[in-house]
Amino acid sequence: MIEKKLIDIHIHNGNDTTNIIAIKNYFIDQAISLQPDDRISVGLHPWHIDETMSQCWIDQLNNLAKLPQVLAIGETGLDLRKGPSLDIQTEIFIKHIEIAEAHNLPLIIHCVKAFPNLIELKKRLKPHSPWIIHGYTGNAATTAQLIRHNFFFSFGKRLLLPQSNLSETLKMIPKEFIFFETDDSGLSVEVIYQRAAEIFHCSEVELIDLIFRNYQKIFEHSAKK
Ligand SMILES: [Zn+2]
Repeated sequence: MIEKKLIDIHIHNGNDTTNIIAIKNYFIDQAISLQPDDRISVGLHPWHIDETMSQCWIDQLNNLAKLPQVLAIGETGLDLRKGPSLDIQTEIFIKHIEIAEAHNLPLIIHCVKAFPNLIELKKRLKPHSPWIIHGYTGNAATTAQLIRHNFFFSFGKRLLLPQSNLSETLKMIPKEFIFFETDDSGLSVEVIYQRAAEIFHCSEVELIDLIFRNYQKIFEHSAKK
């Protein structure tokens, strides 16, 4: 029987533990040294886009995407609060989308105040790879729209805030479209699972089982595994 572990789909500093599988995020402009068992995502964060940068990161990302350790492309995306113009961010984001499609890998998306733009791109490009919005904090109206377009959602530390409406948002989402993460919080993903189990009125074991199946379906399906 496969041992079902907790899944943390987006972490910056931290590693697997005995009961957690973690997908560590690397920025393409960061030194990357990989061990055979690592699981990572890699991309160019919109905040790191330098308008004078050369195109060589695209080849680099394409090469990395072939490695068995690379389970997702990202984080990448659109941020209307920070970073270069939306046009430039969109151009860079589309490169990531193309690479994700070419390698049959899911996309880990950073999206701030740009959900209409994100939906528009998905409608236009009709990607096959799953699009996962990380650190999701959207309201009910935005969530309903994103659900209609088959987005996946990853919830992190904001789910723990008592004043947050995110518990209502979480309950709206079909369970096959949910993931959890700790990002740069330094928390253990276990506390996110505990909170989510409370919200769903289910056991932690049920939730571990569910998210593990989601993980296998989305991250372990690709032909190179
Ligand atoms: Zn992050």
